[in-house]
Amino acid sequence: MSVAGERRAKRATTELTELTSIINYILIYFIFAFAGGKIIRVEAHPIPEHARPRRVQGRIALVGDAAGYVTKCSGEGIYFAAKSGRMAAQAIVKLMKNGSRLPTQEEIEATYIKDYDKAYGPTYAVLDILQKVS
Ligand SMILES: Cc1cc2nc3c(=O)[nH]c(=O)nc-3n(C[C@H](O)[C@H](O)[C@H](O)COP(=O)(O)OP(=O)(O)OC[C@H]3O[C@@H](n4cnc5c(N)ncnc54)[C@H](O)[C@@H]3O)c2cc1C
Repeated sequence: MSVAGERRAKRATTELTELTSIINYILIYFIFAFAGGKIIRVEAHPIPEHARPRRVQGRIALVGDAAGYVTKCSGEGIYFAAKSGRMAAQAIVKLMKNGSRLPTQEEIEATYIKDYDKAYGPTYAVLDILQKVS
């Protein structure tokens, strides 16, 4: 397919997705209205699927959504929130040596951040590529 053809196909897909969302919204609205229900609030929420450029500041370490750990393509974030929370906590507890000292930013970066990126960096990279080609 030509580049222009690809662009047209992509635009058509986007328009179709938007149209489907609108139709879904209208359908839900009528189903609720028919059942005697009333929609009191419609909400949307941004999905943080880009790792924050800075995930540790001083002795504050970001995990889960705050760190931007939702995977592209699948939108999965619960596992990564739990896992990163546990990894950060375990690293910090170890660095504190039974509560005898406080960890530094460099130490948290060299443990929790390094280990997390090593374990899940490839997963994010592959899903990023998948998102771009899909
Ligand atoms: C519509 C939608 C569908 C999703 N579907 C899936 C799915 O199918 N599978 C999946 O794996 N993930 C899914 N996710 C993503 C998943 O919900 C999140 O990645 C995950 O919940 C992140 O966990 P978290 O603990 O980092 O953040 P959160 O679950 O957002 O927890 C943060 C908590 O901190 C509280 N808080 C915020 N500010 C303050 C403050 N100042 N003081 C005290 N408390 C505060 C908030 O109220 C909240 O309870 C979905 C997300 C959305 C929006």
